[in-house]
Amino acid sequence: MKCARLLVLGLVLPLVAVPSSFGWGAKGHKMINQLAAQSLPDSVPAFLRSPEAIDEITYLGPEPDRWRSAAEPELEAAQAPDHFIDLEYAELLGTLPRKRYQYIAALYAYGLTHPKLAPVLQPDRVGFQPYITEEVWERLKSAMRDYRQLSAAHQDTAPVEAAIIFYAGWLGHYVGDGSQPLHTTIQYGGWVGPNPNGYTTDHQIHWLFETKFVDAAIRESDVQALMTPPQTIGDEWTDYLAYLHHTNSFVEELYQLDKEHGFEGTGTAESRHFTAERLAAGASMLRDMIVAAWVKSAEPVPEWHHEEAKAVATSSGAPQTADSPQAAKWNPSSATGAPRTAIDPKFGTVYLSGNGVSNPQLLYGPDPHYSKEARKAHFQGSCVIGMVVGIDGRPHAVHVVRSLGMGLDEKAVEAVRQYQFAPAKYKGKPVPVRMKIEVNFRLYN
Ligand SMILES: [Zn+2]
Repeated sequence: MKCARLLVLGLVLPLVAVPSSFGWGAKGHKMINQLAAQSLPDSVPAFLRSPEAIDEITYLGPEPDRWRSAAEPELEAAQAPDHFIDLEYAELLGTLPRKRYQYIAALYAYGLTHPKLAPVLQPDRVGFQPYITEEVWERLKSAMRDYRQLSAAHQDTAPVEAAIIFYAGWLGHYVGDGSQPLHTTIQYGGWVGPNPNGYTTDHQIHWLFETKFVDAAIRESDVQALMTPPQTIGDEWTDYLAYLHHTNSFVEELYQLDKEHGFEGTGTAESRHFTAERLAAGASMLRDMIVAAWVKSAEPVPEWHHEEAKAVATSSGAPQTADSPQAAKWNPSSATGAPRTAIDPKFGTVYLSGNGVSNPQLLYGPDPHYSKEARKAHFQGSCVIGMVVGIDGRPHAVHVVRSLGMGLDEKAVEAVRQYQFAPAKYKGKPVPVRMKIEVNFRLYN
């Protein structure tokens, strides 16, 4: 019945708009962890293959998502960027540095030389997916090394076994996120940028695919059947990045399937296969990475090299940014005052940034086109466009504040209408904010 369905959607959608990037939902994450744990080969210690260990590893699949509760806002803020990486932005750096703080410094440095991109290159917006995975994997390897030493010394291994099981389960969450195409891309919540194929721009696609559809349509047996044979991990960082790239190659197919209503209800044979294959890829990779941690935990620990330590220290001098103490002056009155609001004739109540209301962050801002007459006349200049950035991150009530003429105002409005922002926030919640943008027109030839 169509009416009933519409009614349900109307009630449900506003509620689900918040958890927009939880990576597979609880069911998918548990499935990935369980299938990986169940398929561990005899070469890993028996305690890790016990029913109790499999239960615990399964339970831990969604664990980092439990850390995203509003009850623990500091934890949520610190670890949310661990769940994703926008490869399109991260790889502007070329080869990614392997260490988290070198990556952060590199993103800021790139932003300094490409100021237009600086807002979207904030590290917590680009994401740390492969970094947390590498770091948790190394924790697992370290604990396994300790297990080997305690076993060899005939000492009690029960405490380190508990640590290993925890690390393996924790690792599973991120490896699972890494098989979800929408966790590797700027297209994570609706298509942004040129959209000739008319893919959805609705943020709901993320949740519908990874949680609602998995809950409704995917069985563990279907996923298990699609797991790949065990593969040896060479260099775990390189292999994991290749895995993320492979995942990223499915982004457009996912949008295509969505366009064909593949993620509604129980979907189609094609959409179910697509989703089960992605979950199976996560489970297979997790299995292989746990095995790799075990194998490599037997390798001797490299000797400490003094030269290497010195090289790291000199390259970690991060460039100065707007966050540096000189740039950011503490202003108690603006930090403690109530937020200011105004009435926009076309939009209603809006916030003004400052006093605890953050600025919207530009995610996507295509350049405006030149009008023919302005190009002919070699006419240059700038106009100011006003808008309200809604809680959906889109510009509303777009209008010309300061005109330039020669048909360029229209071109500026056209470009600004395509902008995509991360909405402004007040006390952690998105709020509509009035803002102005200066659009420059320059001819380079
Ligand atoms: Zn996640």
